[in-house]
Formats: sequence, structure tokens, C-alpha cells
Amino acid sequence: MKTSVLDRFLRYVQIDTQSDPGSESFPSTAKQRDLSNLLAVELLEIGISDAHVDEHGYVYATIPSNSNKTQIPVICFCSHVDTSPDVSGANVKPVIHRKWDGSDIALPDDHTQVLRISELHDLDQQIGNDIITASGKTLLGADNKAGVAEIMAAAEYLVNHPEIRHGDIKILFTPDEEVGGGTEKVDLAKLGADYGYTVDGEAVGTLENETFSADSVRITISGVSTHPGYGLGKLENAVKIAADILAKLPKDTLSPETTSDKEGFIHPVQVEGIQEKVTISFIIRDFTTAGLHEKEAFLKGILDEVLKQYPNSTADFKVQEQYRNMKEVLDKYPQIIENAEEAMRRAGLDPVCRSIRGGTDGSRLSFMGLPCPNIFAGEHAFHSKLEWVSVQDMEKAVEVIVNLARVWEEKA
Ligand SMILES: [Zn+2]
Repeated sequence: MKTSVLDRFLRYVQIDTQSDPGSESFPSTAKQRDLSNLLAVELLEIGISDAHVDEHGYVYATIPSNSNKTQIPVICFCSHVDTSPDVSGANVKPVIHRKWDGSDIALPDDHTQVLRISELHDLDQQIGNDIITASGKTLLGADNKAGVAEIMAAAEYLVNHPEIRHGDIKILFTPDEEVGGGTEKVDLAKLGADYGYTVDGEAVGTLENETFSADSVRITISGVSTHPGYGLGKLENAVKIAADILAKLPKDTLSPETTSDKEGFIHPVQVEGIQEKVTISFIIRDFTTAGLHEKEAFLKGILDEVLKQYPNSTADFKVQEQYRNMKEVLDKYPQIIENAEEAMRRAGLDPVCRSIRGGTDGSRLSFMGLPCPNIFAGEHAFHSKLEWVSVQDMEKAVEVIVNLARVWEEKA
């Protein structure tokens, strides 16, 4: 199956769409609209007549059903247009390494940037494929323009192949995913989809149906402050209380640096204060809500223990929900994952379900009412100058999207 995915990808990555975590505006950078506007124009050219960019920079479009079945769930495919603030996305020069032979790839504009099989996972699967990288000075932007190009190419393919039956297919391109704002101003009522797939995953054949569940905890310690010359028997220094709490965290477990797979953690991210008052901010992560609560109880236990030595000091322990494992939602609709696996098998792939040690726009969308796992886009080493994607993996992703549209129609 030959599609327009490569041409589209090369065109989109050359448009700078870096988002900015420090910005107050929405989208965080106006330049993201350059790509959003282009995508809307290209969708109109394909023949998708309702394509448009809304006032917040989201692109919405519908490929109308061509089936006489009336009960087909409306499926949405979603990607984000912005690139990471971590590495420059200006003047990206994509380079295609055709029929790659497995040898090291030194990037032309900075020879110290080298892709090596020994250092980058999944690269060993790509020998003989056409690999695309940046030139050494920027990221590539495959995260998530690979997904954008794949959805666009699949849309074009579906419109040009009316013999492939499908229900209403919705397309959604969001800004500001990399700065946590991707779902902030999305209008799900207007989108009108039943289920969604973000196309923002890594290796070909992978599917992510689980994310962390996440809370934050803020401990605010009020000590007893005195003039240091006259503190005898009175002073209870909040800075030292904070230090005692942090010292009691386990050294060999429950931290990001000592856990993997399905293990969660308690992670202090900021300490702020003076002897009178100190605030410690934590993020708590686990794959279950019960696991989060256990960790919070453990942390509260440490706090209570420490405070026993400081009888006149007090502390406030505040838990705030951040996001929840999307599996809690997805388990109610097993068809979403089953159909994705079926679509992958039809593309000759062996589907692998994975979990993400983080959150995604899909986890937020799932709890906002659009159950939404993440399927592969082929993007790798994202947020770095070594970012790469292969043309073959992108073509497979297009095939999977087209198959998904077909599978949902067939099973309705
Ligand atoms: Zn992404």
C-alpha cells in the first residue's frame, strides 16, 4: 500500500511548531497554527468539506460514513501538531537514509550526533528500511508529525477508496500536547466521537492502553521561629523538619530512579521555604488508585512520625488528583483494544500491548468521555536530536488506521 505519508511528513516537519511551557496564551505559540492551517487546507483539498481550525488552534474534520449500517460507532484519530520545548524545532532539515545497512548514522550538520544500534532501542529492527532523521541541530518532530502525516495519508486513502466501507471518521489535531495543554480547550461535544485513538506511540505494532495514575502532594510545614540567638528549647526549624521527612524516604525503592514497569513512586520535586515555613511538593505515581492511596498513607506516616519530635510545629498534607490510568475507562469498552489488535494483525503485525510510565492526552480524553488508547506512529528517540522514524513503519501505521476504520464498520 503506497500512500502520501512520506511527502506529507517531510513537509510538516519543516514547519516550526515548538510549544512553550512559559507562555500564557493559547495555543502557547502562534506558530503552531501555521501547521494547523495547512492541515485544514489539505483536508479540504482531499475533499473533506467540514475541515477547519477553531479559535484555539484545534483542527476538526469528518470523513462521512459510506456504509448503509447506521449503528457504527464514530471513531476519532488524534495527533498533536506541536513539538517538544526541550530541543529546537526551527529549520528542521529531514534526511532520508535509504535502505539503511545497519552502520552508524552520523548526522550531517553535527557529527557528534550519531545513531547507533547499540544505543538506540528498536533501531536493530530497521535494517533495509528508509530511516528519516534530522540533520543534527534540531529534533525531527516525528513526535507527533509522524502521527499527523499518517492520519492525513489514511484520510486521503479512505476518500480515494470508497470501496472500503467505514462509519463516520473524525480527525482531531491538537496543539500544546508537549506542555500539558492538549486537551484543555477541546470540544468533545462538537467532535461527536464515541471512541478515539491517539496516534503517538513508538514501535511498530505497539498499542498503549495503560498510563500511570497520578496525584500531587503538598506538605506545608509550619515550624516555630525565633531569633537564632535565643532559640534554646524553643526553635523548631521547618527547614530541618523538611530535611528529616526527605531523609526518611526509602533509598532503594519507591523512587523514579529505583523503579520500573508497573511499580509506582513518591517523588519530591520541589522544596521551598524558610525556617518558619517550608513547602515540599511531591508527585505520586502508580498504576492503580489504591496504589496511589497506599503511597500517600506511607508519606503521611513519615510526616506524623517526624512531627512527634517537633511538638509545637504543625503541617498541612494536601493531596490533589492529577490524572488516572486510562485502563480504568478502557476496560469498560474491550472492543477498542480488540479492534486495534485486529487492525494490526490484518497489516501483518503482531500487536503488543504496553503501559506508559506517564500520562497522555489519551488518558485525559478517556476520562473526559472519549475512551482513547494510543497506537504506534513509529516515532523514536523523541525530544532529542537523534529522533528517527522509518518510512516503512509510517506506511504500516497508515494501513492500521485504514484497517481500523474498516474493522469498526464490519463489526457494527
Ligand atoms: Zn507526542
